[in-house]
Amino acid sequence: MNNSTASLRIILAQPRGFCAGVDRAIEIVERALALYGPPVYVRHEIVHNKWVVEDLRAKGVVFVREVNEIPDGAITVFSAHGISEKVENSAKLRDLPVIDATCPLVTKVHREAQRYEGEGREIVLIGHEGHPEVEGTSGRVKQGVHLVQDAKDVAKLKVNNPEKLAYVTQTTLSVDDTKDIIAALKSRFPAITGPELRDICYATQNRQNAVRELAKQVDLLLVIGSANSSNSNRLRDLAEEIGITAYLIDDAKSLQPHWFDAIESVGITAGASAPEHLVMNVVDAIGHLRTTRVETMPGEAENTRFKLPPEVTGERPLKTA
Ligand code: SF4
Repeated sequence: MNNSTASLRIILAQPRGFCAGVDRAIEIVERALALYGPPVYVRHEIVHNKWVVEDLRAKGVVFVREVNEIPDGAITVFSAHGISEKVENSAKLRDLPVIDATCPLVTKVHREAQRYEGEGREIVLIGHEGHPEVEGTSGRVKQGVHLVQDAKDVAKLKVNNPEKLAYVTQTTLSVDDTKDIIAALKSRFPAITGPELRDICYATQNRQNAVRELAKQVDLLLVIGSANSSNSNRLRDLAEEIGITAYLIDDAKSLQPHWFDAIESVGITAGASAPEHLVMNVVDAIGHLRTTRVETMPGEAENTRFKLPPEVTGERPLKTA
């Protein structure tokens, strides 16, 4: 029977939280601060997490929207989401000392798009309008891209040559998110080509698989992540599609005590840019509202690590003013 005096089962998703690309991006900025000293300028939020951004800002990072806001000679870091060629060139023109924290999986999508363009194909990009990764990938191909956000957009597509088309995807969409859109593309343009499914980000897919499993076992799901984090929003949406209540929260301060009044179990996950200590703080805060028993679901072990750029390992020091 549901009641608030019985103990509340908390199940932690596995995997959850930081992916290898986010880990790497944050480490790049931390190492840049240690090696070159503050201020370090980062174009765009290094990763989409309020806590991470505030923490780095307190350590001497200045976040800017555009390269022209960065003073001459200042250490410049590009965020994990990737950048367009135009942005890269604007930094080169000013000879800014740049460290690129673009996730290698995003770079891989850039290369795919360029390879397809080299084959004379128009590119269809499956992604969210306005997302920095979409802006970066769009700006890597000379002819620009056709952006589609859902299967309905596919019906409206106007292309020059249906025989010469390719698609690429935003990495924070999973295989499941894109499969209907890809099916619609293939149905309308049978000659379209695209990457193997394995090109889609492992972290996005693993976190979604875990939520799909967890949502079957709990009454409520909490997703720790920021409102502008695409993959965190998707985790919340996924739980709702499965039919349970789910909230996307920045941290323990966002918890509402009444959420836990008449439930027996709560699942907790975190988006790929949300640090683990926020998860632990939420667990502790729930423990002040109810007696809890905490367990972690069995899940996929992740051991992906990406190499750091030489400018932060001492292999190739940056030329600074
Ligand atoms: Fe890279 Fe995937 Fe993490 Fe994005 S979610 S930073 S693509 S590993």
